[in-house]
Amino acid sequence: MQTDPDCVFCRIVAGAIPAARVFENDHVLAFLDIGPLAEGHLLVIPREHYTRLEQMPPDLLACLARCLPDLARAVLAVTGAPGYNLLQNNGRAAGQVVGHVHFHIIPRNEGDGLGYRWNASSYPPGRAGELQRRIRDALAAPPA
Ligand code: AMP
Repeated sequence: MQTDPDCVFCRIVAGAIPAARVFENDHVLAFLDIGPLAEGHLLVIPREHYTRLEQMPPDLLACLARCLPDLARAVLAVTGAPGYNLLQNNGRAAGQVVGHVHFHIIPRNEGDGLGYRWNASSYPPGRAGELQRRIRDALAAPPA
């Protein structure tokens, strides 16, 4: 299993630094975020070190995803929040600070003030079709 001795989440997995663990199995660990955006804010991580989601073996990602419904239900039950955001950042440009794949489960309440700018734009004529074609081509011929 690949680990990174400099990675804070690998150190949590190894038990070298403490975390408020709520769930673990052979492949997945969930614990409270140390800087919660809301009470009950969880992080769900693979035990093995991968920096970004697209680097993960799909079966491991599926393993992690299988844990999400139960974890979300438990957080909602305990916090009483009516909703939650599932957030997963990849790369510094996307707000990723810790370079070990993690899913945030963030309980949400009406008017809690959390959020981000959703600056929706629109495509100029022809651009959406071009992107559609190029993405479909990229899927058909993924990089080695
Ligand atoms: P991201 O910006 O998606 O990389 O989020 C990283 C998250 O990890 C932040 O919400 C931090 O509060 C959280 N975090 C960093 N160090 C720890 C730690 N030792 N224990 C629990 N959560 C942590």
